Amino acid sequence: MNNRTAVRSTALGYPRIGSNRELKRALEAHWSGRLDAAGLERAGAAVRAEMLGDLSVLDSVPTGVFSYYDHVLDTAFAVDAVAPRHRRDDELASYFAAARGDAAAAPLEMTKWFDTNYHYLVPEIGPSTAFAARPGKAVAEFLEARERGLDARPVLVGPVSFLLLAKPADGAPEGFRPLDRIGDLVEVYAEILTALGRAGAGLIQLDEPALAADRTPEELAAVAAAYRRLVGTAEILVAGGYGPFGESLPVLLEAGVEGIALDLVRGRADLDALEALDVSRETFVVAGVVDGRNIWRTDLAAAARDVERVRALTDRVGVASSSSLLHVPVDLAAETDLAPELAARLAFARQKLAEIAALADPDGPRDARPAAPDAWRDASVRSRLAGLGADADRRAPYAERRAAQAERVPLPPLPTTTIGSFPQTAELRQARAAHRQGLMIDADYRARMRAEVAAVIAEQERLGLDVLVHGEPERNDMVQYFAEQLTGFATTAAGWVQSYGSRCVRPPILFGDVARTAPMTVPWTSYAQSLTAKPVKGMLTGPVTILAWSFVRDDQPLADTADQVALALRDEVADLEAAGTAIIQVDEPALRELLPVRAAGRAAYRAWATRAFRIATAGVRPDTAIHTHLCYSEFGEVIDAIAALDADVTSIEASRSKMEVLADLDGAAYRSAVGPGVWDIHSPRVPDAAEMAAALRLAVAALGPDRVWANPDCGLKTRRYEEVLPALAGLVEAARLVRAEA
Ligand code: GLN
Ligand code: ZN
Repeated sequence: MNNRTAVRSTALGYPRIGSNRELKRALEAHWSGRLDAAGLERAGAAVRAEMLGDLSVLDSVPTGVFSYYDHVLDTAFAVDAVAPRHRRDDELASYFAAARGDAAAAPLEMTKWFDTNYHYLVPEIGPSTAFAARPGKAVAEFLEARERGLDARPVLVGPVSFLLLAKPADGAPEGFRPLDRIGDLVEVYAEILTALGRAGAGLIQLDEPALAADRTPEELAAVAAAYRRLVGTAEILVAGGYGPFGESLPVLLEAGVEGIALDLVRGRADLDALEALDVSRETFVVAGVVDGRNIWRTDLAAAARDVERVRALTDRVGVASSSSLLHVPVDLAAETDLAPELAARLAFARQKLAEIAALADPDGPRDARPAAPDAWRDASVRSRLAGLGADADRRAPYAERRAAQAERVPLPPLPTTTIGSFPQTAELRQARAAHRQGLMIDADYRARMRAEVAAVIAEQERLGLDVLVHGEPERNDMVQYFAEQLTGFATTAAGWVQSYGSRCVRPPILFGDVARTAPMTVPWTSYAQSLTAKPVKGMLTGPVTILAWSFVRDDQPLADTADQVALALRDEVADLEAAGTAIIQVDEPALRELLPVRAAGRAAYRAWATRAFRIATAGVRPDTAIHTHLCYSEFGEVIDAIAALDADVTSIEASRSKMEVLADLDGAAYRSAVGPGVWDIHSPRVPDAAEMAAALRLAVAALGPDRVWANPDCGLKTRRYEEVLPALAGLVEAARLVRAEA
C-alpha cells in the first residue's frame, strides 16, 4: 500500500444548484426555451467553478458531483442505461426527456432518496439493457478540477446501489431483478474507472448508500463479487452515508477496496464494528464526523474523539462529511436576520468544509459545542408533556365515533372533498410577496386572502362538493406557515436545499422547545365556515411532517421533539373544535419518509410517530372527525402505522399506482374510511368522470360502499383553475354515478 491516498480532509459531495440557485434559473430558462444549450452549459460551468472554489479548502476534492438534474440519472447515462423511449439525437434532450418527460415519452419515476427529502430518478433496467461506458462527464469534470491544481477525486454512484435503486424495465420477465445484471454492469464500471485512471485519477469514490440498508446474503455476495472485480482497475473509496454499513462493512473490507468512508453521525455503530474487526494499520478509513444532513455546528471535541478512535486502529485516516453536503444550504453568511445566538450554532455547507479542514489539522480548533441557551427551553411545555399521561392518545372506539359524526354531519355515501389547497395563482403569490416586503399592509393582505377564501368556497358550492376547504391561500408552504407561528422555530432567507431537479425547498430550523402562542388557522377556517352551510374542514400539518421538512435540533430524541410539536397542534385542534369545526384534517404526507432505512429502528419509529399524531388529534369529542392525508410514496411499509394514527378518514395518493394502496389495506388493521385519490394532480392531464368513477368502483369493491371518500390525490396548489374546475366537476359526477349503482 502507498501513502499517496491518505486523504486528510474531504467531503463526500456538495450542493450543486449554485449559492444563489443560479442553476435552477438556468434550467428553467432552458426548459421554457429562453436559454439555449450553450447558455445552460455556461451556467453549469459557472456553478462548478463556484463549487470547486469552495471545495479547494479540502485535501481531496470530489468531482462529478455536479448534476444538471440528478446524480442517479447521471450514472444511468454514464453506463448508457437509457430507456429506448428517452433516446434522442441530442444528448441533453435525451437527458431531460428521462428527467421530465417530453411530448413523446413519460419521464422516469421519481422517488425519495433514502430517508431524505431529496428525490432521485429511478433507472429502468431490463435483461437486455445494453450497458456501455460513457465516461465523458466524469472525465471532463475530473480534468476541470485538476486544471485548477486540485487533488481531484471522481465520484460515481456505485454499481450495487445503482441496481438496487433501479426498477425492472417494462416487459422484464416475472422475477427479474436489476441486480441480476451486476456482472455485466461491473465490466462497464471497470471501463469507466480505467478511463478515469488514464485521465490521471488516483482515488475514485463509489457511493454505495444502499449498503446502509439491510441486505440479504445474496446481495452481499453481489457486493463482494463486484468489488473483487473492480479493485484491480482503480483505487476505490467506497462511501455509504445514510447510516451504518453494518453487515456490508466486513464484506467491503475483505473485497480489498482501497478505502472506506463511514457515516459516523448516523452510523456510529460502524466504529464499534471496525474496532471489533481487527483491521490492518494500512486500512484507509474516512471518518464522516461532520453531519451532512443537518445544519448544526459540529461539536469539534466529540468529532475529534471519534477520529482518534479511528487513528488508534489505522495509520490512514481522513476526515469528511457523513454524507454528501447536498442536503444542507450553501452558506450561512447569506443569513443576516437570524438571532446571533442561533447563527453562532449553525454551519451550512461552506462552514462545514471549514470544520472538516479544522478537524484534519492536528493543531486545529477542538471546541465543544456550547449548550443551548436557557431561553430556548420552555418549562411549561415540558411539564405539560410530562403530565399528559396515557390518555392523551386514546379516543372513543371508531364505531362510536362514526355514529356520532354521521349524526352531527350527515353526508351521502362516497362524500366528495379535496385535500386542502386550491390553485396558488400569480396574484396570490404577488400579494404574499408584497405583504412580506412590507409593501402591503396587514389589513389589505387579510382582505385579499379573505376574498380568495370566499371565491374558493363559492366555487366548491357551485361544483357540489360535500366537504369544503378554505383553500390555504395564506400558506406559503405547509410547514413554513406553522414554523413562522410557533416558538422554537426560525426560518431562513436563502437556506435552499435541492429537492429534485430545479426544485428547492427552504426548511425551517427547529432549534428550541416548541409552543403555540396564539391560534394559527382558526380565523381562516371560521371565516370560510361563516360563508357556507356545508362543513368546512380545518387544515393542519402533522407533527411528523413538520419534523421531516425542517432541520431539527439534534440534542434530544426526535420523539421528544415530535411530542412538543404535537402538543402545540393539540391546542390548535382544540381551538378549531371550540370554534365549531366538525372535521379537522391533519396532513402527514411525510409519514413514510422518516421511516428508518434499517428494519431494526422501524417499530420504535412507528410507535413515536403515531403517538405524536394521536397527541395532536385525540383531544377531540367523538363527534368531531379527524382526517389525515398521505402522499408521495408507497405505503405498504407503514400501513400498520396508518391504522395506528386512528384517524376517521385517510385520504391517500393512489391514482398513479393504480389504486395499489387498496391491496395494501386489505387485511390490515385499518378499519376506518379511506379516500384513495382518483385524480393524479401531479400531471396536467384531467381525467374524466368515467375514469374517476372506474377508480371509485375499485375502491368500493375493495372496501365496501361505506368506507370510501372521493377526492384528488393531493392539494391543488400547483394546478391551474383551467384543470381544477373540470376535474372537480368530473369528481362530483363520478361520485354521483357510483352512488346510483349501489
Ligand atoms: N393540505 C395540503 C394541501 O392541500 C396537503 C399537501 C400535501 O399533502 N403535500 O396542499
Ligand atoms: Zn398530498
